[in-house]
Amino acid sequence: MTKIAHTEAKQLAQQYGTPLFVYDEKMLCAKMDDFTKYFQSDAIETGVIYASKAFCCKAMVQLAAQHGLYLDVVSGGELYTALKAGFDPERIFFHGNNKTPQELSMALKNHVGTIVVDNRREALRLKELLADSDTSVHVLLRINPGIEAHTHKYIVTAHVDSKFGIALVQEDEVIETIRILQETNGIIFDGLHVHIGSQIFAQDAFTDTVKKVFGFAKHLQDAYQIDVHTVDLGGGFAARYTDEDAPIPVKDVCQAILNACTEANASLSAPVRRVMIEPGRSIVGEAGYTLYTVGSLKKTPNRHYIFVDGGMSDNIRPALYQAKYDAVLDGKEDAPAADTYTIAGKCCESGDIIIDAIALPEAEENDLLIVKTTGAYGYSMASHYNRMLMPAVVFAKDGDSRLVIRRETYDDLIALEV
Ligand SMILES: *Cc1c(COP(=O)(O)O)cnc(C)c1O
Repeated sequence: MTKIAHTEAKQLAQQYGTPLFVYDEKMLCAKMDDFTKYFQSDAIETGVIYASKAFCCKAMVQLAAQHGLYLDVVSGGELYTALKAGFDPERIFFHGNNKTPQELSMALKNHVGTIVVDNRREALRLKELLADSDTSVHVLLRINPGIEAHTHKYIVTAHVDSKFGIALVQEDEVIETIRILQETNGIIFDGLHVHIGSQIFAQDAFTDTVKKVFGFAKHLQDAYQIDVHTVDLGGGFAARYTDEDAPIPVKDVCQAILNACTEANASLSAPVRRVMIEPGRSIVGEAGYTLYTVGSLKKTPNRHYIFVDGGMSDNIRPALYQAKYDAVLDGKEDAPAADTYTIAGKCCESGDIIIDAIALPEAEENDLLIVKTTGAYGYSMASHYNRMLMPAVVFAKDGDSRLVIRRETYDDLIALEV
């Protein structure tokens, strides 16, 4: 997690106002470099794709490009952002379980490198679109390997009804879809994609997925003479939100995945040539934090509330997934804890809680509260509930900072109204 210097937080709050998302730019770069450095192998080609949905804006996309990452997008909006940021479209992977015909056309027109097809109907739609176009596109098929992993637990053959991908138990459907892809002019069928979940701590979840997918690749080869060139294993690598979280070091998980791939490849007559991963949260999560100003404090019979000037509008994760966060009061890091507080926002929902219970030193009005590890799925899931304004986002580096997304104004808020 980032260690935030007192003077820096105060200065940023004064300069940009609160609530404010701050990213430690050096840490962003270091996280990306860790993945590209450790996800390397002599035995197999590798690639690291930044899953932009975790935090998507032009500045972040440009940083990913500078550090040699590929890019995942899951909507026309993310694709548009990437194109406007000047990201090489050849290095973009377009995901999603229900891409519209307009989004698929947009991808083809802009020469997106790879489309990850979710289902048979989408394969047919792509075929129709390519019939009157002379472009070509690489395609991966998303399969559902029947492994679901979230946080500390993972379950094998548990989730055949996911809306994502085609379940391996529906083998006929998988084969039929691959045949459509293979027979379509303009489609280069590269292989398989899986994504088993998010905030995964269990290394076995990843290596078991490798075994399962490579096992299926062998079955495709033996039973259907279908070669798999690329396997994309998705994201899901955990970030550290509180002291209870101990993510597997990037080096270890990358090595474990690559070893499992090399081992599984030995049994294939035509080995898988390229393996990719798609980290999102683990790149941006810990590098980001949110600065709030403390407004009122309030005691109820059982709680001591700290009210902050944001809330579920800039961080929905506690309400959505009971996600846990850690926080400090700026300048009081070394003071003894005075009470157990509940950090609540200003939205009209009782569930508008950022932290349910946290021991902190004596909090006072106008203190700065720093909530850590808000870099992933914070800004990107922000909403206008209660007509809250989107916070600003800054990248900080070496005591300097640059504004990458300005704070929304009330005029922005009504700009779309006709
Ligand atoms: C969400 C998602 C990711 C990134 O997941 P993280 O948990 O942020 O690493 C990668 N690939 C796909 C297909 C996704 O849906």
